[in-house]
Amino acid sequence: MTGAEIPESHPRFESLRTRHRLEEGVDRGITSRAGLIAHGRGEAFDYLLGERTIESAAAAERAAAAYLLRADHPVLSVNGNVAALAPGEMVELAEATGAALEVNLFDRTDERLERIAAHLREHGATEVLGLEAGARLPGLDHDRAKVDADGIGRADVVLVPLEDGDRAAALAEMGVVELVVDLNPLSRSARAATVPIVDNLVRAVPAMTHYARELADATEAELDDIVESFDAEEALADAERAIRRSETER
Ligand code: ATP
Ligand code: MG
Repeated sequence: MTGAEIPESHPRFESLRTRHRLEEGVDRGITSRAGLIAHGRGEAFDYLLGERTIESAAAAERAAAAYLLRADHPVLSVNGNVAALAPGEMVELAEATGAALEVNLFDRTDERLERIAAHLREHGATEVLGLEAGARLPGLDHDRAKVDADGIGRADVVLVPLEDGDRAAALAEMGVVELVVDLNPLSRSARAATVPIVDNLVRAVPAMTHYARELADATEAELDDIVESFDAEEALADAERAIRRSETER
């Protein structure tokens, strides 16, 4: 079944449409094959969550928006899955928060970097960082350490959706505020985050944009309040409870 043929009434419509976007991403040389496997792991957690944004994830999305708005140099990291699933949505979030977009790949090839940058530009991005990787994350081997000196290299807040656990840990060690979207509350990435967002990327990014717009005129003190009242441990524990109980009707 191709994406175009899925009837909207199909109970897995959203899930199938999301898969189809990833298949297209692979066909276009944007998404890696390993990205498909990573997505499968995410889907399993999403199924158990009832494919919805739980309350604690919405609170995390609002806290993440506040962090991005407060930041001096916020950066949104884009990998092959993110580029396939939410390119326009990432561009909108960048605009709503004044953040830079940086392409960041686990399996780094110049060709894929260029394709993803072009794909983001097609979706309205004016500037895409990551092609010049002049800085490095500490403690990682050569290719995986590469980041843009003008982007993550000097960022104070970084959104890393679906980041690999090692790199998430390296960023945390650098003292960067790390906002991680990851459906697995037990993953090292989620655990390394300042703000773990246990939600599907396709819901999380528009939600953050919504909150960023809502908070556009908030005072520094209001943003500080939102950030300080967010509890990462509690958010992870709540998501894990929701998954283990999995009482959602479907
Ligand atoms: P660890 O973080 O424990 O080191 P990992 O990062 O190596 O694990 P992977 O399976 O490579 O594990 O990473 C994929 C992660 O991305 C999984 O935790 C999965 O739940 C998450 N994920 C995949 N697709 C999505 C999505 N669409 N939205 C949110 N999270 C997703
Ligand atoms: Mg991970």
